[in-house]
Amino acid sequence: MCATIPETEVHGVVRRATNPVRIGSFNQTVVLDAIRRSSGLSRVELAASTGLSAQAVTNICRRLIAAGLVREAGTENVGRGKPRTMLRLEPGARLAVGVHLDPAVVTVALLDLEGTVLAQQSLATPSALDPPHAVATITSAVDAVIASAGADRERILGVGVAAPGPVDLRRGVVDNPPNLPGWHQVPLREELARATGLPVLLDKDVTAAAVAETWWGLPRRDGTTAVLYIGTGIGVGLVVDGEVVRGTSGNAGEVGHVVVDPDGPPCACGQRGCVAVALAPSALLERARQRGALPAGSLDETAAASTDATAALGELFDRADAGEPAARDVVAYAVTGIARLALVVTNLLDLDRLVLGGPYWARIAPYYLDRGPEQMAAGAAARLIHGVEVVGTSIGEHFGAVGAASLVLDHAFSVHPGSLVEHVPANTPRARRASA
Ligand SMILES: [Zn+2]
Repeated sequence: MCATIPETEVHGVVRRATNPVRIGSFNQTVVLDAIRRSSGLSRVELAASTGLSAQAVTNICRRLIAAGLVREAGTENVGRGKPRTMLRLEPGARLAVGVHLDPAVVTVALLDLEGTVLAQQSLATPSALDPPHAVATITSAVDAVIASAGADRERILGVGVAAPGPVDLRRGVVDNPPNLPGWHQVPLREELARATGLPVLLDKDVTAAAVAETWWGLPRRDGTTAVLYIGTGIGVGLVVDGEVVRGTSGNAGEVGHVVVDPDGPPCACGQRGCVAVALAPSALLERARQRGALPAGSLDETAAASTDATAALGELFDRADAGEPAARDVVAYAVTGIARLALVVTNLLDLDRLVLGGPYWARIAPYYLDRGPEQMAAGAAARLIHGVEVVGTSIGEHFGAVGAASLVLDHAFSVHPGSLVEHVPANTPRARRASA
């Protein structure tokens, strides 16, 4: 189940990599998912909750225990019958690395099967004008995170990369995202797989965030959910009936040209007040300076995507929190814009749940949760039929990197086989099987 490949030499370093095949059969995945989402289940409960026969559950549990994914954890008395042996997930049995490529910061995290971040590291985003250097920098961070957790490389299923869109999923290429200057056609999936010796998956950041919600956030995997990601860019990840929606090329959820302020700044697309030019951090900072909410010239015009922008936004929220009227007006403008966007998405998909997250969410959350749902509700087409739950993500500050690692877990364990194309390093059993 977790075959070991021969040692290979990559960039002068001897690497061993585990084989991250999709773990077991569909039924096995269903059972593992049920155990993972519980605090312990007996075989009887598993049969009842999955609809599988008692014999099938027994056989599958034997295989899961043999693979080290599940362990027997004591017994529980249920009624008068024989005490039932409880089965629990073995969280450290497999691990996944997540790499979140943000315009300012790359965050690398190592995740176990319970979603615990075992180790993480952040570094300034390397320039992709020198792709080998960028790949080497990210690889060093991946190695450092694995080493700092003392993790056994054999248990690592792979590396997930979450990048700003657009991405070319078929080729695993970061395709010139507007928020990632210099990253022209970078074949990151293949290059990173070669450098790390680990299988690599690449997806759009908002899609990774949606996958993370299906794994760690949502109480159930059914329903229609949108994840509104508020970062340097604003995007939407979609989950319909438990399935993450990627679209034809993996670029679903681009909402940058939804108009949220018809009198707002002009956009390159010909409209005014698009999300991209009204609500982006650089746009909010510009508005704040124009309206005296922040001192003029407090930000280098070219540094919109940098840590300077993060610091300046922090100052804007500090001033709003302190009750400064001009700062509060800018924050209220952002809340109204996000609510307008949320309404468009809610009506388009007939959502039952909207989850908000991303690097800037924590600061805007108190303002948004106070006013946003109310502003949204008035225009919700289905408001008389059902409500829409509006919540902040329960996934902490490393939302992007956790999402990226979740791509790997989802690929290996999901009951809903994804359409992600994965790059497997050459000269592995899987690569040989695929070419045979
Ligand atoms: Zn536009």
